[in-house]
Amino acid sequence: MRAPAPRPRIAIVIPVFNEEAVLPELFARLAAVFDARPACTWRAVLVDDGSRDRSAALVRAQAGRDGRFQLVELSRNFGFQSALSAGLAQAEADEAVVTMDADLQDPPEVIPDLVTAWQGGAEVVRATRRTRRERGLRRLGFDLFHRLFGQLSDYPVEPNTGTFGLLGPAAVAAFNALPERHRFFPGLRAWLGFPTADVLYDRQERAAGQPQQTFRRLVRYGLDGVFSFSHLPLRMLTYTGVFVACMGFAAGLFFILWRLFQFERSPTGFTTLAALITFLGGVQLIGIGVLGEYLGRIYDEVKRRPNYIVKNPARPGGAATGTDSARD
Ligand code: UDP
Ligand code: MG
Repeated sequence: MRAPAPRPRIAIVIPVFNEEAVLPELFARLAAVFDARPACTWRAVLVDDGSRDRSAALVRAQAGRDGRFQLVELSRNFGFQSALSAGLAQAEADEAVVTMDADLQDPPEVIPDLVTAWQGGAEVVRATRRTRRERGLRRLGFDLFHRLFGQLSDYPVEPNTGTFGLLGPAAVAAFNALPERHRFFPGLRAWLGFPTADVLYDRQERAAGQPQQTFRRLVRYGLDGVFSFSHLPLRMLTYTGVFVACMGFAAGLFFILWRLFQFERSPTGFTTLAALITFLGGVQLIGIGVLGEYLGRIYDEVKRRPNYIVKNPARPGGAATGTDSARD
């Protein structure tokens, strides 16, 4: 157990992409939460991920009105995970960071509970959904992903957790020191370790606007999650190869013996051959695809291109570029 600091400092990191419809309500609700807990020093870091609407202007105006709100502008749209990394990189050494979405699906009113759990000794606090509001294809996708990821990863993510949560200063420092470019936040948070606590909450409907993460992007995060936390796909390839080779060997032996002993006319089998060839072709293509997934990620890692570029580096001497992939 760690003795709580005299006046804990907490930064709320929020990636923002085309969220002009929800921002006013977000500001009001965050300010109310801050006001209700004056024992902490609060600030909200809103990372504008290249919004094409008035989001950045709204945040700038709010920052002018209330010094606890700050704007970090990325030079273009880099994607949610990169924007999140950009916000985390802004944290001061003694700051705890709350990570959340802008769309109020993660209610700001839960933040004090996260802080309490942190002050109770947890370095990592996950907000865990009691209920989930997504329906249909998105819901199915989330469920499938979590089942698959749970099977594959050595560091499974609790299915009802997402980005929403709190990292203590040590966890933030550890996260910021991670060298990789492909980042899947919930997986990395699980990988970090540290004493972890869960705080239950009810996930809300998006307050306004449309989901900004396209389904394609969610699928890409999902793949990142699987391929950066597991070698199992590669191992499965090996097993499949061994299995198919054994089957081939057995079949070969069978046909040789058949031929030798001439029980019957040796079989002719165009259909069998065609089926075998297409099947094996498919297996090989899948294999190449899986290798490609890893190879592409290795390529991105070795390029060492930053994952985001800050348009307005706020602090002199502060890092202006991040360390993860620019591809997302
Ligand atoms: N977001 C972002 N960059 C993007 C897409 C989304 O910063 O390219 C932000 C968005 O503004 C929101 C959060 O990421 O604060 C989650 O996005 P969204 O609600 O669209 O995703 P979902 O709830 O479907 O995960
Ligand atoms: Mg959302």
